[in-house]
Amino acid sequence: MAEVFNPFHVAQAQLDEAAEYLHLDPAMHEFLRWPMREVHLTLPVRMDDGSYKVFHAFRVQYNVARGPAKGGIRYHPDETVDTVRALAAWMTWKTAVLDLPLGGGKGGIICNPKAMSEGELERLSRAYVRALGSLIGPDRDVPAPDVYTTPQIMAWMMDEFEAMHERHAPGVITGKPLPLGGSAGRGDATAMGGMYTVREAAGLLGIDLGKATAAIQGYGNAGSHAHRLVTEMFGTKVVAVSDSKGGIYNEKGLDYQAVFAWKREHGTVVTYPEAEKITNAELLELPVDVLFPAALEDQIREDNAPRVKACIIAELANGPTTPEADRILHEKGAYVIPDFLCNAGGVTVSYFEMVQNLYGYYWDAGTVYERLDKKMTTAFHAVHKAAQEHGVHNRLGAYLVAVRRVAEAVRLRGWVRS
Ligand code: NAD
Repeated sequence: MAEVFNPFHVAQAQLDEAAEYLHLDPAMHEFLRWPMREVHLTLPVRMDDGSYKVFHAFRVQYNVARGPAKGGIRYHPDETVDTVRALAAWMTWKTAVLDLPLGGGKGGIICNPKAMSEGELERLSRAYVRALGSLIGPDRDVPAPDVYTTPQIMAWMMDEFEAMHERHAPGVITGKPLPLGGSAGRGDATAMGGMYTVREAAGLLGIDLGKATAAIQGYGNAGSHAHRLVTEMFGTKVVAVSDSKGGIYNEKGLDYQAVFAWKREHGTVVTYPEAEKITNAELLELPVDVLFPAALEDQIREDNAPRVKACIIAELANGPTTPEADRILHEKGAYVIPDFLCNAGGVTVSYFEMVQNLYGYYWDAGTVYERLDKKMTTAFHAVHKAAQEHGVHNRLGAYLVAVRRVAEAVRLRGWVRS
């Protein structure tokens, strides 16, 4: 029987490889392989028809040596605790590689938000925050949006937390709507951060992005903003995009405004008329310069990696490439910008949002993007340098930078001395 894909095993295998390069002490290595704390929640929620439904949910605080746990909350029917653990581990490495004073966490609720009313979603979101109680907070654990969670959901969660604690605490959650203490630039921060890393990679590889082509898998927050930004900032031609129902291709390029409006009106890109239909699998193998996986995990694997033709693979999604595929892509000479570097713009602007909430003083979008660019560019070159120095692929380079920083914080705190 084929082994079921387990993202946490992938996250642990990636850490194991880095630990070997860094000659990590065995106790430190074991400590970093596991979440420091995880909570399993059972949430009864009243549905619109008067019946009650019980939802299962998780919150994982993977490591808090460098600061409060930070990480999004996913609403997904296939959510598992191992997915949440893996994502929380990647958040730990992500905040470290960006050198943010934060740890890593993640949350998830097993549910199908597409089949729930607004009222049901609100009651479920508030129930999740009530069940977490004081385990979250601006100086403990700060959630944010992720797959199928929105600024409105963040607003309900913040409101529930503030009602419970009888005080204003906007820094408890990020990705909030602007009138409730959200940050300018948060909406497209993940894609924008990815653009800065693609710009740097293209510079190193001598690729003129103005003459380049791109394909984008996933058309949600990360993917749709990537379509707009890569076109606006660099003039790159986006020839293919997709969502959960499938993909579309047009060699002449897909107009962002038209495709985005179509998706908003019809719920999918697949029926967009001025393009031919392709599958998500075909999209990944197109001969483009830049490929943006911006959907879910486990997309580029041992079986299809040899057929991936893109020069730059900019991982806006978390965990889209398996470790076997990483090695194949590296040998082929593809330049992978690994997830926890490429998509770190979201958490970086989330961090800016926390800082602004604490100060009660808000920056304009230009200031946010300028500071984001500086953070992303610095992190990109730290990772590139580590990968070059050790002769390893970029993901391992990113791990070497991040794990070294987290291990240092753990050691300085005296949790594990080595
Ligand atoms: P989203 O919910 O806004 O969008 C997800 C998109 O993926 C939708 O268009 C959906 O149709 C599509 N999709 C779902 N299953 C698919 C499949 N099997 N094949 C192709 N497309 C599929 O989510 P998002 O916020 O854009 O997140 C996408 C990825 O980016 C996730 O891996 C997430 O963890 C990562 N990410 C997001 C942020 C952020 O700030 N939004 C930050 C860091 C990382």
